[in-house]
Amino acid sequence: MDLIVTNARIVDRPAAAPLDIGIANGRIAAIAPDLGADAETYDAGGRLVCAGLVETHIHLDKSRIVDRAPLPDGRRVNPVTLVAPLKPGMTVEDVYARAEATLRECLVNGTTRMRTQVEVDPGIGLRGFEAIRALADAYRWAIDIEICVFPQEGLTNYPGTDELLVAALRQGAPVLGAAPRYDSDPAGQLGRIFALAREFDVDLDLHLDVGDSPEHMDIHQVLALTERYGRGGRVVVGHMAKLSLLPPGEVAAMARRLADAGIAVTVLPATDLYLMGRDQEHAVRRGVADANLLAAHGVTCSLSSNNVLNPATPYGDCSLIRIANLHANLLQVARPAELRDLFLMLSEHSARLLKLADYGLKEGNPADLVVIDAATPEQAVAEIRPPLAVWKRGRRTVIRHPPELLAP
Ligand SMILES: [Zn+2]
Repeated sequence: MDLIVTNARIVDRPAAAPLDIGIANGRIAAIAPDLGADAETYDAGGRLVCAGLVETHIHLDKSRIVDRAPLPDGRRVNPVTLVAPLKPGMTVEDVYARAEATLRECLVNGTTRMRTQVEVDPGIGLRGFEAIRALADAYRWAIDIEICVFPQEGLTNYPGTDELLVAALRQGAPVLGAAPRYDSDPAGQLGRIFALAREFDVDLDLHLDVGDSPEHMDIHQVLALTERYGRGGRVVVGHMAKLSLLPPGEVAAMARRLADAGIAVTVLPATDLYLMGRDQEHAVRRGVADANLLAAHGVTCSLSSNNVLNPATPYGDCSLIRIANLHANLLQVARPAELRDLFLMLSEHSARLLKLADYGLKEGNPADLVVIDAATPEQAVAEIRPPLAVWKRGRRTVIRHPPELLAP
């Protein structure tokens, strides 16, 4: 053994006695009480240990530009039209530097796996894609990053975008996204995206159903296309904020349809809370889909950061645990079992959504470990407890000390 993390409270058995996790050659070699082998040790002190936090939906490429886009007057905010004029001026180096700063915050907050959305269109060309690919290579020692390319400003209405998406897919982009809301022909965009996914045999991760009214929802077309193209298990939809405008019975019925179709959902509380209800001046709706309710009806759900310090979300410290706490607070989630489910939507369930076959505290898996300064997952979410130590494939990547009060 190269390392033993002792006294670890395993995330899916928080009530059991702490165990030791033995690591050899970058993989988990054993999980048992008192391994006691001759190796370097780290005493987790009975704290919670998980196999790393999983960010399933973030926009590294357009993070940290809030200072470049002054807010318009009034309550209405369209983040896409605020960002679009900035994109021609973004170089590969600029995207890389901002994305790197955001990524480093994700790392110190315990994220070890990530899917990031990357915009591709004539405004930014393939520069964002190129920058994030280089960043993913440079940080492979600390995190696995998967890229999802997508058209943010429309596909059918923005000549040249289709060709660039095809170029990115030819260069190996493993996931394709969409944003039909910003297309003059939303149905046309979704049809084309599903056709491309079949042609290039890639998974789909779509921005879907944000808006002030639930009358029209694109999810119905996505359900039909998923069935027609046989893509069940390979489709994720992000946001689904309009579900927050429906009564729980209708949400539950939709959840069962999504679960049966093999469509997973990523809820993005920070952005939806910031952007929804802009048509209202008082009694503003919260606008965040209830991930616990969806999960209770069988949907694979994750919670993620989405935007960080840009016109779509001018906040963010890249703490996924804070995002789970925000979701709990917004949706008035208080039962320990439901808070625990929210933690799983940053870890196990997120890994299932991304189809990470080698994720988890299990012998033989890569030794991705995060020690969190909490005794249970529900405490971590309720108190936004910080990660204290992180290993990626057995290599220590993060040391973090909680603040300490001095003696009088
Ligand atoms: Zn997004």
